[in-house]
Amino acid sequence: MRCERVVYPAHCVQIECPRLYAHEQDGVRWIGCIDKVYSAEVDLDRLLEQDSQHPGFGALLAERVPRAECKAAIDPTFPHRDAGPCTQPAFRTSFPEAPEGREPLRTRRG
Ligand code: SF4
Repeated sequence: MRCERVVYPAHCVQIECPRLYAHEQDGVRWIGCIDKVYSAEVDLDRLLEQDSQHPGFGALLAERVPRAECKAAIDPTFPHRDAGPCTQPAFRTSFPEAPEGREPLRTRRG
């Protein structure tokens, strides 16, 4: 088990990110990130439905460094523990510095 960096695809839709793509297949509208910050394709209608009921729903693993416009967070392994400095060098250095203009990642709550 380890902490993970995550991004929120509903945010991509809300900001109408130009890096967001969409296509329709078998009556389902799928969205994804051109830059593959996350690699999964997401059912848009289900995502928006769930996000309206549970804000923050649908966080996905950030497989690449989030861009300045992404909504990103750290999903902690042990959310009940006091958030002190990270003691895992491999995790701390697994992504290069945040792009300019992007806030440092914060621990996800809830
Ligand atoms: S660049 Fe970030 S905000 Fe834009 S589609 Fe990709 S993950 Fe979403």
